[in-house]
Amino acid sequence: MKKGEPKEKATQIIEELEKKGLNPVPLYGIERTVIAVIGEERELSIGHLESMKGVEKVMRVLKPYKLVSKETKHENTIIEVKGVKFGDKKEVAMIAGPCSVESDEQMDQVARALKKTGIKLLRGGAYKPRTGPYSFQGLGKEGLKILKSTAKNHDLGIVTELLDVRDLEVVHEHSDIIQVGARNMQNFELLKELGSVQKPILLKRGPSASIEEFLLAAEYILSKGNPNVILCERGIKTFEKATRNTLALATVPLVKELSHLPIIVDPTHGTGKKSLIEAMSKAAIACGADGLIIEVHPNPEEAKSDAQQQLTPDEFNKIYNNLKTIAEAVGRKI
Ligand code: PEP
Ligand code: MN
Repeated sequence: MKKGEPKEKATQIIEELEKKGLNPVPLYGIERTVIAVIGEERELSIGHLESMKGVEKVMRVLKPYKLVSKETKHENTIIEVKGVKFGDKKEVAMIAGPCSVESDEQMDQVARALKKTGIKLLRGGAYKPRTGPYSFQGLGKEGLKILKSTAKNHDLGIVTELLDVRDLEVVHEHSDIIQVGARNMQNFELLKELGSVQKPILLKRGPSASIEEFLLAAEYILSKGNPNVILCERGIKTFEKATRNTLALATVPLVKELSHLPIIVDPTHGTGKKSLIEAMSKAAIACGADGLIIEVHPNPEEAKSDAQQQLTPDEFNKIYNNLKTIAEAVGRKI
């Protein structure tokens, strides 16, 4: 649509396209609305569409992913949660918290410290995707309740993982951002269901997914009506054994070329090593990441999952402050 056209103009066009049996998906930007149309091309007369009032241009999108593509929407998508902006050129969004929710006391301790540091979004898994069935699987609903009361007490937003589509309602109720873990990136039924809500989704890259597959996973969510997807690079599997995963930072500037969606980096799972988190966080900010998600536990050695990679609140506080200079150097703020 032309710059500044009112939403009603788009609505008329959407109705007309629907009558033809096509699937129009509006993407509302700050400056303009883009209507992505999915369906049989022979139902469309490009000339007719182009002549409609309010339409600036009609174009074909050649990429396999359409709605997430920068070809479709040039303007970056900004997703705001609890006053934190993902995708804003001026800001680096931060999420921190333990791998798993373990107890009221553990969450209270970590939330108190993180709040002091300046964190507004608290992470913590209640449903945990563990490699083996005998490892701690998370506290489930009980964990969600702990998360919610902790977040309320400290006025924080909640980021937590949804593992199974059957838990969507309860996770939706207890979160501000729903995380889709790396192992679920291609759980297409889960992605489709997440398209039916409006809550922001943190979609982690699968350990062996290509960037195209990653963007197609996001496309599933957008195509079902939820435009609020935050991508997350968390490292991929390679032959390298010295780090837990290989943190593929080139994903960040490349995704920025291909998509309008925000992308953040998880240096914790990306390296699996505490000693590498500061350096990789700095690198992530320098290469244009919209944010970071970092694991912090009040007592990492005792953690029920990912003990070796979690930072103490003090270690995190130091790193957080050191990141500010890098953010400033690239015109952003933490
Ligand atoms: C996590 O965030 O704790 C997690 C399990 O991450 P990933 O899905 O990236 O492995
Ligand atoms: Mn973890």
